[in-house]
Amino acid sequence: MIKNVSVVGAGAMGNGIAHVFAQHGHIVTLIDISAAQLEKAMATIKKNLGRQFEKGTIGEVQIQETLDNITTETDLARGVATAHLVVEAATENEAVKLKLFEQIDAAAPQDCILASNTSSISITKIASVTTRPQNVIGMHFMNPVPVMKLVEVINGYATDSFVTGTIVELSKKLGKVPALAHDYPGFVANRILMPMINEAINTLHEGVADVEAIDTIMKLGMAHPMGPLQLADFIGLDVCLSIMQVLFNGFGNPKYAPCPLLVNMVAAKKLGIKAGEGFYNYSQGTKELIVSERFRGKD
Ligand code: NAD
Repeated sequence: MIKNVSVVGAGAMGNGIAHVFAQHGHIVTLIDISAAQLEKAMATIKKNLGRQFEKGTIGEVQIQETLDNITTETDLARGVATAHLVVEAATENEAVKLKLFEQIDAAAPQDCILASNTSSISITKIASVTTRPQNVIGMHFMNPVPVMKLVEVINGYATDSFVTGTIVELSKKLGKVPALAHDYPGFVANRILMPMINEAINTLHEGVADVEAIDTIMKLGMAHPMGPLQLADFIGLDVCLSIMQVLFNGFGNPKYAPCPLLVNMVAAKKLGIKAGEGFYNYSQGTKELIVSERFRGKD
């Protein structure tokens, strides 16, 4: 039975994943290399539990129980030592994840399932650096985790069907809806979503329309809850770029080439909400339009 869950990486996704497991009675260890990031994550979890309370979906007791179920840790080996399941949600970078899985594999109990929340990196490759590829799987939550229902479950080449079944059932117990995908670049969600976001950035870069028009057209015209440029800011432009690079390298098809404007904005650290600025400005705590010619690459 999966009771103890270690979540590695306490960024935008890690705090949400820890929140959801803890709220469903799991003993959660939230791990990050940065103590400041762990503090920030706990503050975010408290804020989001407060929101659920205001909406009437949880009571005061559940807030306290959820918080009591979470401890934080900066030492990876200590943090995974008694885990039944590790969910890795660290930076979307292949080298970082391969190193992490080697370390997690060395420190976690032998029957522990190792899951990655990666948006696009090969589960098979991640599994190959461990001594237990049959126990490695993709458990891809959506942002914001406490709100979004989907868990994309990705089978690596060697993933055992018992492990897949365990993760599918666990996802349901968390109140989520699991959907299965095989291990090809971007899986399903980002193979379809990210080229759309990249195309929106190309459309902006080529001066076809401005930020406001592109987001309005896609939001109202396609009944999307937010436009693709706002969504890119929400996901993080660095994460979007990493995913496009995985698609581009994985398929070797130029249609997946990241837009040069996306590359430039990541280099300029205009990463979206988490940086205070992306396609919109968030520095005052609101979403403000940026009126600027710098998004334009061509006449
Ligand atoms: P983020 O940049 O907000 O957070 C990453 C965290 O990982 C940081 O706190 C960093 O300190 C930590 N970290 C880096 N190296 C580490 C290590 N060696 N040990 C422990 N912690 C380490 O990233 P995020 O947006 O939360 O994304 C995390 C993962 O979730 C990525 O694989 C990403 O592709 C995936 N994902 C992201 C979204 C999204 O909307 N942002 C959605 C679904 C999946």
